[in-house]
Amino acid sequence: MTAPRRFTGDTLVIASHNKGKVREIADLLGPYAATFTTAGELGLPEPEETGTSFVANAELKARAAAAAGHVALADDSGLVVPALNGDPGIYSARWAGPEKDFAMAMRKVEEGLAGKSDRSAYFVCALSLAWPDGHVETVEGRCYGTLVWPPQGPRGFGYDPMFRPDGFDQTFGEMDPARKHEMSHRADAFRQLVERCFR
Ligand code: IMP
Repeated sequence: MTAPRRFTGDTLVIASHNKGKVREIADLLGPYAATFTTAGELGLPEPEETGTSFVANAELKARAAAAAGHVALADDSGLVVPALNGDPGIYSARWAGPEKDFAMAMRKVEEGLAGKSDRSAYFVCALSLAWPDGHVETVEGRCYGTLVWPPQGPRGFGYDPMFRPDGFDQTFGEMDPARKHEMSHRADAFRQLVERCFR
């Protein structure tokens, strides 16, 4: 096995058009790059997420942004429910529709679980770093838990109010955000990526 490639440049492109996500990533990787820019600032189009896995979608977004000449980082994330054959999975955002109605998306998950005893679920976050020569380094972070009903707690976003991480008695919707950020699928993925490519 060849050693992972390390980030040694000074500019990192964050391949996201979501301002909150860009800020969070720039904070987390602040010590490792001199300059951050975004796919939006470079006027890069958002590629269609045609992959069939989180990893494939993160890689295609990172590769598309790296074509502009700098190392680029992209992510893809979602909720996987084994009793629903992995749904909503890579379609987690789409289940909420154009109105981003996550109360409806959570109801859909709950309806699918009717009569099923397995209420386990996990969040996934794939992070991919792509170089302009086509090389990619990708990691996948996970956070395991149980789905509760009704949804609980006003914090977080997306499916947080129905997800209770293993070992805790609160959902991500009830939990102090700092605690969620220490143990989430995104935290797991960033720890792996920093270890692999930035330290
Ligand atoms: P992405 O921005 O394309 O990666 O979409 C990820 C989708 O997965 C979001 O719209 C949420 O529905 C869901 N998701 C990802 N991470 C979380 C999380 O930490 N909490 C709740 N929902 C999440």
